[in-house]
Amino acid sequence: MLPLRELFFKHVAQTSNSPLAICITKAEGEYLYDENNKAYLDCISGISVSNIGHQRKEIIEAIKSQAERYLHTMVYGEHIQNPQVLLAKKLSELTGNFLDNVYFVNSGAEAIDAAIKLARHFTGKKQIISCKDAYHGSTIGAMSLMNQKQYFDSYGPFLQDVDYIEFNNEDSLSKITEQTAAVFVELVQSEVGYIPIKESFLKSLKRICLTNNVLLIFDEIQTGIGRTGKFFAFEHFKVFPDILVLAKALGGGLPLGAIVTSKKIMSVFSYNPSLGHLTTFGGNPLSCAASLAAIDYIEKNNLLNEVASKEDYFRKKLPSKHFIEIRGKGLMIALQLNSFDEVQKVVKHCFNEGILIDWFLFNDKAIRLAPPLTINYEQIDYVCKTIERAFI
Ligand code: PLP
Repeated sequence: MLPLRELFFKHVAQTSNSPLAICITKAEGEYLYDENNKAYLDCISGISVSNIGHQRKEIIEAIKSQAERYLHTMVYGEHIQNPQVLLAKKLSELTGNFLDNVYFVNSGAEAIDAAIKLARHFTGKKQIISCKDAYHGSTIGAMSLMNQKQYFDSYGPFLQDVDYIEFNNEDSLSKITEQTAAVFVELVQSEVGYIPIKESFLKSLKRICLTNNVLLIFDEIQTGIGRTGKFFAFEHFKVFPDILVLAKALGGGLPLGAIVTSKKIMSVFSYNPSLGHLTTFGGNPLSCAASLAAIDYIEKNNLLNEVASKEDYFRKKLPSKHFIEIRGKGLMIALQLNSFDEVQKVVKHCFNEGILIDWFLFNDKAIRLAPPLTINYEQIDYVCKTIERAFI
């Protein structure tokens, strides 16, 4: 048989000409290991998934114990499954029961598509508004919410009746009218390089949505489950969405997405037509069991308490003179440089020294730092010193 690396390039679909192609043999805590047992401190969390680190015994135990009881039994929403019900209850509680109904899917983009459908059916309106430079996923529905010309050219036409506002620009909010069904927004714009939302913009957005009967939808796929130091980033502002979209870290390392909303809004999936949104594997019992264990792990280990001080420590120790800007919120930090060459130089140096970092889909002049929330201060020191040495 060909070596694994050659089989990878031959048989596994590639989406770029330069995949990292590191051959993972093991993961533990904050580290990934390659075939030579070289350890890499994971500062990407693949991407923003491994918020509690890798292979925590509590998660593995929860998965094993669920696997021994049952795996798939029936498409979503038919059978009463213990982990799914308990997770829906837990997510409702985490929103303070402000949102109390959950639809589980398999991924972020799928959850975004479901939210578009829900908003259109519930409001009876068609127009969806999202923000320029947002990232919402790779399905046709999710891509329709992104104003990237290259996607339109290659994969369009997309959904009709979608318009874009400028993120953090209140003047742009006048595009939202009574004709609008919903506005999608990220609370830290992810793939353009971790730009946090301004409180004033968010509050004006909420006000204008209320005035015009427009649903406000937060894409917390990357910010959710503790990454900004709160379970959900909206808690920093006390501004609630009508629909909350989650995925990534939600599954504790297994595939899981969710839309969380009120029972009233969610109920439209059950009429005109009934069975208006279906999924075979969404809310899989294994994923829900892993999710419950991951949330429990965050709570029992008080992981959210230290996110802000770890962010501060990064900001203090990073060689700020080399960066145009250090941005972000919690443990989603972007280091803005002048060129992709500089980014590559730092990424390569870190890789050689056993640290995984990368750049952003829509911003290749910035470095992404998104380590597990469990990263310790000594590890942060190592990351910052290694980044500093990359400039020598
Ligand atoms: N929304 C945001 C903010 C994301 O970061 C992502 C994934 O990176 C998605 C949506 C899409 O999620 P998925 O890759 O699970 O479809």
